[in-house]
Amino acid sequence: MNPIAEILRAHPIVILDGALATELERRGADLRDALWSAKILLEAPELIRAVHLDYFLAGADCAITASYQANVAGFAGRGLSEAEALGLIQRSVQLAIEARDTFWTNAAQPSGRPRPFVAASVGPYGAFLADGSEYRGDYGLSEAALIEFHRPRLAALVAAGADMIACETIPCLLEARALVRLLAEFPAVSAWISFSARDEQHICHGERLADCAAFLDDYPQVAAIGVNCTAPAFIPSLIRAARSASSKPILVYPNSGEVYDAATYSWHGETSCATFGEQSREWYAAGARIIGGCCRTTPAHIRALADWARSMNG
Ligand SMILES: [Zn+2]
Repeated sequence: MNPIAEILRAHPIVILDGALATELERRGADLRDALWSAKILLEAPELIRAVHLDYFLAGADCAITASYQANVAGFAGRGLSEAEALGLIQRSVQLAIEARDTFWTNAAQPSGRPRPFVAASVGPYGAFLADGSEYRGDYGLSEAALIEFHRPRLAALVAAGADMIACETIPCLLEARALVRLLAEFPAVSAWISFSARDEQHICHGERLADCAAFLDDYPQVAAIGVNCTAPAFIPSLIRAARSASSKPILVYPNSGEVYDAATYSWHGETSCATFGEQSREWYAAGARIIGGCCRTTPAHIRALADWARSMNG
C-alpha cells in the first residue's frame, strides 16, 4: 500500500498538513511539556481531531498523526503502563481516521480531489529525550538499540490502521537505516523518510542529503524521501540534492524559518510564512511532489498551497 504513489498517478502533487502543535496552542492547549503534542492525546484528544479536520478543509490530502513524541518510555514517566501507552499511540491514528472520515463523508467535494490518507508520525529518538538532540542526532546509540526503541510504537501504529508511516525530522543516517530495517518487519506498510537539515546540502548530523537519498533509493517500502522542520531558505537546494541521488518522489515540509529553543519551549527569529504560497510553488518547480508545512505553519498556509496546486488539476 503506497498512498503517495496512488495520488501521484492522478494528481501533480500530494498536499500535506501543517503544524499540529501550533494549532493546538491556538486553541488553548498548553504544550510546555516534554511530551509536547502527545500530552494532548491524554488530556484533550478532541482538539487533535478538530485540528486534523481543519487541515483537510484547508486542502490537505494527508493528516500526520499526533504520535511524533508519543512513546512507551515517555508515557511511563507519567505513570502509564505499556498497554495504556500503546493505546494512546493507537488513539492518535484513530483521531486522524475519524477526522478524515468526517471530512470525506460530509464535505461537499470539489471534483477530482483525492480521498485523504493518514500518515502515522514516527519522530526521532531525540524527540523522546526532549533535550534538543533531535536536531543533532548525536545519540551514542547503536543501530540495534534504535531499532529496539522504535519497534513498539511502529507496531502499534501499523496495527491501528495507519495508511502509511511518516518517519520525520530524522537527524542522522544511522537512524534512517535503523528505521528502514525495522520497516522490513512490517512488509505491507510503506513509509516516507524525512530528515531535518542544517544547511543547503547536509542533514542535521552532518551527512550529505544526497548520500542519504542514494542509500534509501534501494528500499521499496520507502515511498518518498525529503526534509522537514528545516528553514525554507535551504529547501530548493535540498530538493535538487535529493533528486540528484534518488528516483523516489521528493517530499518537503519546512518550518516557518523561526528557531526553536528547547530550554524555554519557545520560538525566535523571523517567519517567512507570509510568502508560503509562492515559496511552495518554487519547491514544486524544483521537483518536490509532496509538500506541506512543519512547525509554526497553519491551515492558512496549506490553503495558500492548495489554491495554486489544485488549479493545476485542470
Ligand atoms: Zn517541525
